[in-house]
Amino acid sequence: MLRQPSNCTESHDPRFDELVLFNAELELLAEGFRWLEGPVWFGDHNCLLVNDIPNNRTLRWSERQGISTFLEPSDFANGQTRDRQGRLIQCHHRNRCLTRREFDGTTTTLAREARGHRLNAPNDVVVKRDGSIWFSDPLYGLLTDYEGGRQQSAQPPALYRLDPDTGVVEAMASDFDGPNGLAFSPDERLLYVAESGAPGMAETRQHIRVFQVGADGRSLSGGEIFHKINPGWADGFRVDEHGNLWCGAADGVHVIAPDGTLLGKVLVPRRVSNLCFGDRYGSRLFLCASTALYALFTNTRGAAAPY
Ligand code: MG
Repeated sequence: MLRQPSNCTESHDPRFDELVLFNAELELLAEGFRWLEGPVWFGDHNCLLVNDIPNNRTLRWSERQGISTFLEPSDFANGQTRDRQGRLIQCHHRNRCLTRREFDGTTTTLAREARGHRLNAPNDVVVKRDGSIWFSDPLYGLLTDYEGGRQQSAQPPALYRLDPDTGVVEAMASDFDGPNGLAFSPDERLLYVAESGAPGMAETRQHIRVFQVGADGRSLSGGEIFHKINPGWADGFRVDEHGNLWCGAADGVHVIAPDGTLLGKVLVPRRVSNLCFGDRYGSRLFLCASTALYALFTNTRGAAAPY
């Protein structure tokens, strides 16, 4: 194990050294938040949007202007992304729904129910190239007053797909102890889903699972364990152009190869809940780390268009 003296990375495999820069430091961009989540890059506005969940607000960060408020209240928004048209898609705890922000600034609710019952608290979301919206719906956002208010669950945690043409929400997998972050492989033949565990249960599953996507582009099979984050569990993550997973974890970011090997870590002083690639070339990693926002220039790029 090689700890680079000049920066914050820890290499466990020679492949990791190709992904990071010896002279790029971890940068503290802003702090003083309560719990950051849902980073998403807007290249067309040269800015990042990020959610401060307990403060019920969506924030905007740019290199020149720093932090400002974008939406307040945000309905306790958590994970977010952009659809194929570039519109903001948000998961919300308080009203237990998925929304889209239109070009005129109005909000459209995309999903509030599934299987005939209220959703729990949509947590994280990704959009596939065919326009379908995939999101996780664990119980976490219903359990505390801190992130939206305690509410009763109406159904078990599940992973959902929202059809872009019909608007139908379909459960794709429901065998989860807390589905959380999710991302497709660059060729979209694999879907990775973090399982963060069932709160309060002694025996619980905490690992990243991998599903095979069928030739129809939507059916799932498999779901086996891909990688166990150690220590703890994974929250949100993104995939780079080589198919490596960059996962938020207790001690920073764990980088996992497509074969499941831990390649290395980015060591961060606070727990990383979620992250995304962005900036001009999609090579800058933005890290939501508890009460602070960090960034690190890397030598790879996000798999998905950074917009
Ligand atoms: Mg999450």
